[in-house]
Amino acid sequence: MKIGIIGTGYVGMVTAVGLAELGHNVTGTDIVPEKIDKANQGIAPIYEPGLEELLKKHLKAGNLTFSHDLDCTISSTDVLFVSVNTPQQEDGSADMSFVESVSRRIAENLNNYKLIVEKSTVPVKTSSWIKRIICLYKKQDYEFDVASNPEFLREGSAVKDFLEPERIIIGVETDKARDILTKIYKKFQDRILVTNIDTAELIKHASNSFLAMKISFINLISDLCEKTDADVELVAKGMGLDTRIGKQFLKAGIGYGGSCFPKDVRALVKIGEDLGVDLNLLKEVDKVNISRVKKFVDKVKKALWILKGKKIAVLGLAFKPETDDIRNAPSISVIHTLQSEGAQLFLYDPKAMDNMKRVVPESDKVVYAESPYEAVKDTNALLIITEWDEFRCLDLKKIKELMANPILIDGRNIYAPEEVRKLGFEYYSIGR
Ligand code: NAD
Repeated sequence: MKIGIIGTGYVGMVTAVGLAELGHNVTGTDIVPEKIDKANQGIAPIYEPGLEELLKKHLKAGNLTFSHDLDCTISSTDVLFVSVNTPQQEDGSADMSFVESVSRRIAENLNNYKLIVEKSTVPVKTSSWIKRIICLYKKQDYEFDVASNPEFLREGSAVKDFLEPERIIIGVETDKARDILTKIYKKFQDRILVTNIDTAELIKHASNSFLAMKISFINLISDLCEKTDADVELVAKGMGLDTRIGKQFLKAGIGYGGSCFPKDVRALVKIGEDLGVDLNLLKEVDKVNISRVKKFVDKVKKALWILKGKKIAVLGLAFKPETDDIRNAPSISVIHTLQSEGAQLFLYDPKAMDNMKRVVPESDKVVYAESPYEAVKDTNALLIITEWDEFRCLDLKKIKELMANPILIDGRNIYAPEEVRKLGFEYYSIGR
């Protein structure tokens, strides 16, 4: 079976490499030529642990190729995974224009039976639109099926997540589509859940919204902790010991970011509105999340009073550790707020600085440092925004000596308050 991947971004690239590792013949394509050029040279266009090694391995083995030619990729493959972006629009709904445009191209190049698999996160009922578009634009009368196979990988551990999935959701409406997808994922047959397409589409949006809700919930509890003597870390630990609740996604901090949770929560709210279902609960989840940055900057002001002219080090720019992705990263809102207050910023991230430079260009007020130690030199405060492991094991004594004022504002609770205070830092964290 020849598999085509349309859109080789974070999901498409991992899917291409992952399916090649499962033994399939895969061709990836993208409208951004540089991504294809890089991929063909064995350079992953994104940072993701383990990705480049597997990319090189399968390019060499010959079962993974990348092509600039979308039409040729469509006509030369039997199964097409569509993993293009579905970004948020102003009204909160997902922009489906990339999916629509790809569907038209598939229709125009339909030259045998094809299975079109939605890998992108899409609103429930999208498959009906894809089918309609293909029927409207197909030039030859070949059969086709549409299926939903939502992706659950997490950036930072995407390759591992793809190759060791907890579940494979397959939404289909024909036996043929089910058989093809179960064959592709044969290795994980004990973890496959087959549903109808609407159900599969909804499983993805419901899962992301539920996880976002857990994060906003514990952040709200952290507000209560700050007004009392409670410690949110221990509240979360105590809650998480209940297997009905589970300990994951109960980490108080500056809130969730990334290309999925914010947009998927809003998209589900919009889907609810369109279908006449009030999802106010999720509007609150979003509102709580948005308020995190302001609460964090309030802590910085509480420590420094006036931000104008202050030198502030910011460690962590990616929306989470182990990725270079800064889409919807809380760091961006924090940086913009500090900039508008007139602070001078010294930024550092192990992987995301190139991406951030495009959003926050270097200037006399924004300096990108080579290391955390360079970033903190002569600064009035140090902010932790992303919980990279590298920051957990910093030489804090050295940091304290390098700073003008040893003020540490930890947005991810990565340090033990007593230990850093013992070292002489004025320390602020979340919910404790
Ligand atoms: P991305 O922006 O990194 O990748 C999308 C790619 O599609 C880009 O490289 C873009 O150039 C390409 N593209 C757009 N239109 C195209 C076209 N007409 N032909 C060929 N290529 C085209 O986005 P992503 O993070 O990989 O997300 C893709 C989808 O998967 C989204 O719906 C997202 O919500 C979902 N998703 C993302 C994650 C994640 O962690 N990033 C996880 C699960 C699901």
